[in-house]
Amino acid sequence: ATPTALMVGTGRGAQLGILIKGPEVLESTRRVDTVVLDKTGTVTTGRMTLQEVYAAEGTDEKEVLRLAGAVEHASEHPLARAVAAGSERRVGTLPGVEDFTSVPGRGVRGRVEGREVAVGRFYDDLPPRVARARDEAERDGRTAVVVGWDGEARGVVAVADAVRETSAEAVAELRRLGLTPVLLTGDNRRVAASVARAVGIDEVIAEVLPEDKVAVVERLRADGRTVAMVGDGVNDAAALAVADLGLAMGTGTDAAIEAGDLTLVRGDLRVAADAIRLSRRTLATIK
Ligand code: ADP
Ligand code: MG
Repeated sequence: ATPTALMVGTGRGAQLGILIKGPEVLESTRRVDTVVLDKTGTVTTGRMTLQEVYAAEGTDEKEVLRLAGAVEHASEHPLARAVAAGSERRVGTLPGVEDFTSVPGRGVRGRVEGREVAVGRFYDDLPPRVARARDEAERDGRTAVVVGWDGEARGVVAVADAVRETSAEAVAELRRLGLTPVLLTGDNRRVAASVARAVGIDEVIAEVLPEDKVAVVERLRADGRTVAMVGDGVNDAAALAVADLGLAMGTGTDAAIEAGDLTLVRGDLRVAADAIRLSRRTLATIK
């Protein structure tokens, strides 16, 4: 590869809205045959909004929302921001939280007004009605989390995220380049399947804990696939680093951008296809 041709590729990349860590990055894109796409914030906007609140019998809906909002207020997760904002809007000022802890891929806990509140996926045995409320929300394509306090699951809050307008077209373009798209997410199977269907992805790997995303990429590589990974979150950073090619959404976290080889400045997934096309063309020019 001649340095001049690679530099031209890099300059053209900047025009397209692709930041390339170094010219040598272009080389690793040539053999890519699989593109792993994170769901939240990558295929979707990650700007979630509160949709529904359900309370078990004997519990007030507003109380579910108020306590969930109080704990989520301390978290940065897109889901948490949606719950906290929706809660503040509907119930007003939120109470403070003590002993807040965040468990990646599971949820948050904290003490609110003397109650031990948990929001997320912490309860193994759900009262049938709570389980049904969660399942129904998930069937509607929502991300639903269980809210409980003092050891008992008492309600569900559901949030929705919108698929980016450009995602379906991006997936079609990636396919035209001969790549197989795979959707990877910590979210539940039903939500993952509904997003996959909306954008035209057949291969879905859901309910993956943040620390296991990297193992998924490693497994695909061990199967002989050459993997590009596109992600935005702190929980995608390790997977971006081990992928043959890591693409970070410019709208995402610093951790993802630092771990990636390329940054898609505008957060437009179609540019991932442009990046691969560009590097192939640049390398063809060199040969
Ligand atoms: P993704 O891979 O789609 O970015 P995450 O790994 O961040 O998703 O989260 C996976 C799941 O963990 C969420 O769908 C939710 O059920 C739960 N979760 C994560 N963070 C929180 C939180 N702050 N509050 C409640 N639940 C959470
Ligand atoms: Mg994400």
